[in-house]
Amino acid sequence: MFKPLDINENEEKKTVKPTDIEQVKCLIIGSGPAGYTAAIYAARANLCPVMYEGLQPGGQLTTTTEVENYPGYPEGVTGPVMMEDLKKQATRFGTDVRWGMATKVDFSGEIHKVWIDDSKLIEAETVIIATGATAKYLGLEDEKKYAGGGVSACATCDGFFYRGKDVAVVGGGDTATEEAMYLAGLCNKVYLIVRRDELRASKVMAERTMNTKNIEILWKHQTKGLFGDGVVEGATLVKNKGEENEEEVTIKIDGFFLGIGHKPNSEIFAEYIDTNEIGYIKTIPGTSKTKVPGVFACGDVQDDQYRQAVTAAGSGCMAAIDAERYLSEKHA
Ligand SMILES: Cc1cc2nc3c(=O)[nH]c(=O)nc-3n(C[C@H](O)[C@H](O)[C@H](O)COP(=O)(O)OP(=O)(O)OC[C@H]3O[C@@H](n4cnc5c(N)ncnc54)[C@H](O)[C@@H]3O)c2cc1C
Repeated sequence: MFKPLDINENEEKKTVKPTDIEQVKCLIIGSGPAGYTAAIYAARANLCPVMYEGLQPGGQLTTTTEVENYPGYPEGVTGPVMMEDLKKQATRFGTDVRWGMATKVDFSGEIHKVWIDDSKLIEAETVIIATGATAKYLGLEDEKKYAGGGVSACATCDGFFYRGKDVAVVGGGDTATEEAMYLAGLCNKVYLIVRRDELRASKVMAERTMNTKNIEILWKHQTKGLFGDGVVEGATLVKNKGEENEEEVTIKIDGFFLGIGHKPNSEIFAEYIDTNEIGYIKTIPGTSKTKVPGVFACGDVQDDQYRQAVTAAGSGCMAAIDAERYLSEKHA
């Protein structure tokens, strides 16, 4: 007898019982320097890693031009080329690199469940989280217009290109004051654009910043836009003079640095593993281990201090070694 199609019943089947289930020894989530380094080590240790690349294959470095501080490239290298090199090295040893996004996890059992694109289910003995962190921007159109032309969210990465020049840093917290202090050691002058009339940074950092000769703090200023012919040549700011009294000012700068923090991509894991108040994954000090056995974290998603490609790669190596040791103990 003809049975009409019950759409709700089918919908339920789709979410409760995925048809596509796969068991893997080692699942790597994320394809930045941390994920690829973990993949190289895991593949060479015979863990047959499967990697899901996420929405940004190659990670943050694919959005930059020159990388001059990654060891092994004496002439420098562009971010996209460097990430292609890492990918080739990982696939050479058998890493299965796939397009897809981890959308949900269940780390409550011994076998860890990770859903890809809300459909495919991966059952993994070990999971390496390498999902990175995203720099926060003000949301101005000009930040996009001058991306790679004077706008940066990383003073350690790009400060060198502005030696002897004038730059600005936005923000009043620890990130901004650290960026400003770093740039003050390289640049002629650093403007610190602060929305309030005080710094949110720790007392020590605030005092250090205020006592640094070539840092000028622009209190109660907000950025309205940037200008320049192809590259940043200046910024238009709005000074709040109280009681809705505003004044527009311009500063001449070559570099505009965001210092308003990062957002670690850790939301989907937060139910099962510990994170700090910002969302950075907490690992057992000196290791990549999270509080869940068999789940490891590496790279920017667990690093609120350094956030560099080389430190991400180093911690990716740690995660693969920790995963290999976990599996050999488990199967001993
Ligand atoms: C513009 C710019 C320039 C930089 N320049 C330098 C430099 O010159 N030198 C330097 O050392 N560092 C530089 N950095 C910093 C460096 O890029 C990072 O420290 C590094 O990329 C961190 O690596 P990662 O592997 O932890 O994460 P990322 O590179 O952030 O990679 C994260 C990966 O996780 C994936 N992902 C996220 N969520 C999911 C999910 N749910 N499922 C699947 N995949 C997911 C993303 O698609 C991405 O592939 C720069 C950063 C930026 C933004």
